[in-house]
Formats: sequence, structure tokens, C-alpha cells
Amino acid sequence: MRRRNFIKAVITGSLGSIISGKADGYDSKKKYEKSCEDTSGPAVEWRRKIPVRYEADVAVIGGGIAGVSAAGAAARSGAKVILVERFAVTGGNLTSGGVGSFCGETRGQGEVFDEIVSSLEKFDAIAEYKPYSRENQSRIFDHEILAVVLQELVLRRSVKMLLHTRFVDVLIKGGRISECLLCGKSGQEALRAKQIIDCTGEGDVARYAGFEVMKGRVKDGLQLPMSMMYFVREVAEDKAGPQLAEGWFEPVRSKEDLPMTSVWPNGPGGKALKVKIPMFDSTDTEGLTAGEVKGRRRMWEVLDYFQRVRKKDWRFDHCSPIIGIREGCRIAGDYVLKVEDLRAGREFEDGVAKGTFYLDGHKPDDEKRTYILKKSEMDVPPYQIPLGSLIAKDGKNLMMAGRCFSADQLSLSSARVSTSCSMMGQAAGITAALCAAKDAEPRDIDASEVKREVVKRGANLEI
Ligand SMILES: Cc1cc2nc3c(=O)[nH]c(=O)nc-3n(C[C@H](O)[C@H](O)[C@H](O)COP(=O)(O)OP(=O)(O)OC[C@H]3O[C@@H](n4cnc5c(N)ncnc54)[C@H](O)[C@@H]3O)c2cc1C
Repeated sequence: MRRRNFIKAVITGSLGSIISGKADGYDSKKKYEKSCEDTSGPAVEWRRKIPVRYEADVAVIGGGIAGVSAAGAAARSGAKVILVERFAVTGGNLTSGGVGSFCGETRGQGEVFDEIVSSLEKFDAIAEYKPYSRENQSRIFDHEILAVVLQELVLRRSVKMLLHTRFVDVLIKGGRISECLLCGKSGQEALRAKQIIDCTGEGDVARYAGFEVMKGRVKDGLQLPMSMMYFVREVAEDKAGPQLAEGWFEPVRSKEDLPMTSVWPNGPGGKALKVKIPMFDSTDTEGLTAGEVKGRRRMWEVLDYFQRVRKKDWRFDHCSPIIGIREGCRIAGDYVLKVEDLRAGREFEDGVAKGTFYLDGHKPDDEKRTYILKKSEMDVPPYQIPLGSLIAKDGKNLMMAGRCFSADQLSLSSARVSTSCSMMGQAAGITAALCAAKDAEPRDIDASEVKREVVKRGANLEI
């Protein structure tokens, strides 16, 4: 009897609302009121002895394109490197997020990126090269093959890779991060490293260390929106038709009701779809949960429109395992890259990476194809990314690369593309390895030495 009541409660409560697609139990306006720092309510203290199982010169946390590039570059410099990734594959947004396309200039990004491209070419898994322009913004590749290419790249360079391993905390001694606490399938373990590079996208290392981070737009903290990526197969007419069960969610019935949706080819007989999911905080446990739930509902609502209204002969194939995250937290660095720097095509004395992509600032609070800037304001000339924006200002031995580097929101809307993330990763990896070799900290390193090495390794920093 009790069990029957429980089932009834589930159906009329949470499951009932999931089917109707109405309540997701998440109020985006309230989400910033409570953070993990807030222990004013009930709190617990937790102590435990954890074995130091790993030691390295350089620990790279997060194995997206920035992390792989950082780890690969540090290892190429001769450092002992450990790469920590919470999922089963490296690549982050580009693999687990299903993005499958490099935006920006794909030549002159440095030897790590060159190796990635040439490996994809060997698999015949990347579109042919065209110089970057507004007409040729992106170069499509097979994201499943990228997952193999990246893992082999780091292993070839003798990087120790820990998969299914989440970074969970830091220990700080004398202003330095002395150990990173990890949790993998063996349980909790510590990693001791001289230099740490945060490539988590959400700035997890800096956040958990209590270092200053910046989130979203200035007035309300809303981040660049997430998008759900999913894939369909084109099938024969008699196998096609709507797949969404009657009564589930709120299917889209007209073009006007569509959220921003992009569709492009994904291999023979396949299409990739991208649907915008705004107003969820990717750095908040409940926010990310609600974003994923909304993403999967929206995916079906939009697919139903294409199947039922547009009569497309598409059958659902699969959804990427995680929602695509454009912005998490940006770590406050010694320098914060500003949109004015991009507009001026600024060259920095400590410029170690470069951006070429336009200001792709999707409006944070609108699910339509709307942007923060007018079309005429989006273009920027090539610009440099300074080493100062890759060094966490509150830490001694913490650098960052990729979409959690130190920038304002609009600069990030350009520099977050994979090509620039890889360049940042390479520069951070080279710097961290130099630090380990010299027993120095990143801000003590002569930036011109890093710059020289970055250029020697094939990065084109000319603007
Ligand atoms: C929908 C969408 C479409 C996009 N389209 C394009 C495009 O067409 N072309 C393009 O170039 N760029 C595109 N971008 C941007 C680009 O994909 C990303 O900004 C870029 O790939 C970010 O790389 P990253 O390494 O900084 O971060 P991520 O790819 O997010 O990698 C971070 C990695 O860190 C891991 N991680 C996070 N937290 C932890 C933790 N605590 N412990 C261990 N591991 C952790 C994650 O699992 C992940 O593998 C798009 C982004 C989105 C969201």
C-alpha cells in the first residue's frame, strides 16, 4: 500500500510534470542567491587521510581541446604531465558535447593543433582547409574520431591520463596549490604537482580554491547560453514519421515558435542539430541539471516540428552525452582581456596566443537567434591573447586556458572557439613546463621566452 502511494506521488509529482514539460523546478532568477561557499545553513565538516597517489611537474585539470593542448605542449617540453578528465573521453565540448567543428583559422595554431588536424586528415575525418573568413567560419570534423585522435596524441607524448576522474578540491600551502584532490573509480586520491593548469571550462580549480572568478554578464551574471547537440539519420519515407509520444512536452508547431536551431550535415545520411538553451547556470549543480533536462525536452519538441510539420524523413539517432557549455566561470587573471583589445586588434608584449573569430555573443536571456551586438559590430581583426590572462591573479602556481581564461564576456564570445583554446593551452603548457624546469612560478617567467617557443612550435602570432 505504501509503495502504491509512493508510485502515485511520483507520477502525479515529478514525473507528471516532466511529461507535461512545464515545471523544471529551477528558478533561474534565484540561482545566484546560494553558492557552495555559503555555509550559513546546515553544514558539515569532513576530514579524511587521502593517499598521494600521483606526482607530476604539471597537472592539467580538464581534457577538452585546451587541456589536451596544454598537456601535449608541456610534455613536448619534457615535463612529467598528468591530465585529469571526468569523462570517458577527452575533447570536452568538441567530443562529449558533439560540436564537431573548428571555428576560426585552423592553420598556424601551433604544433599540437597541427597534429590534431593531420591525424583527422589521415582518418579522412575533416573538411578541407579554407582560410578563415566570415564566409568560411568553420571546418567540420567527425567528433567520434576526434575522441580517438586526442587520446592517442596525449599518450604518444607520455602524458599520464586519468579518465573518469573528477577534480574535487585543492590544498593550499603558502599561497601555492600543493595538492589537487581527485575522485575516480578507485576513490579519493591526491595529486601533487608543481604547476596546475585549470582547463575545466567552469574554472573549477580556481573556484574551489576560493580564487576570484567572473561569471556571465555584468548586470545579472547570466552566461552565454548553452545548446543541446543531437543527431538524426535520414531514412526511407516508410520508416519516417513523428516519434514523440502523444502528450509529452510541448512540441513546436510553427517556425515562429522554434528556438534558435541550426542544422548541418553529419556524415552520409546524417544531420546534426543544435538547439539553444538559455538561462541555466553551468557552474551550479541544480542549474546544470535543469539545463540538461530542458535540453532533452527541447530536443524532442524541435525534432517533432521537423518530423510532423516540415515532413523531414529524419529518425532520431543520438544525443550528445552532455549539453554544450559556452561559458562557465572566467578566472580573474593578472590581465583581463577586454572587448576593446579585440576591436583594436591589440598586440601585447606578452602575447602568446591569437584570436581570429568574430564576437559571437549569443544573447544570454533569449532562446531565439539573437545576439548581444548588432551584426555590424561583431567583426574584430586578429588580436593577441596575453600570458597575463592565463595566470590566475590569486594563485602562485595556477594557470588557466580555454573558455575559463581571464576575459570579459564579449571577448570570451570570440576567444572561446576551439582554435584559440588550443593556442592558449599550448602557451600555458609551455609556460608551466618552463616553471617546473626552473623551479619558478608563471609570473616570474620571461614572457618573451614563452613567445619564442610558441612561435618556434608553429603558432602564428602575427596580427
Ligand atoms: C553548442 C556549442 C557550439 C559550439 N560551436 C563551436 C564551433 O562550431 N567551433 C568551435 O571552434 N567552437 C565552438 N564552440 C566553442 C568550443 O567548442 C568550446 O568553447 C571549446 O571547445 C572549449 O574548450 P575547453 O577545452 O576550454 O573546454 P571544454 O571543451 O568544456 O573542456 C573542459 C573539459 O574539462 C572537463 N572537466 C570539467 N570539470 C572537471 C572536473 N572538475 N574534473 C575533471 N575534469 C573536468 C570536462 O569534462 C571537459 O572535458 C561551441 C560551443 C558550444 C557550447
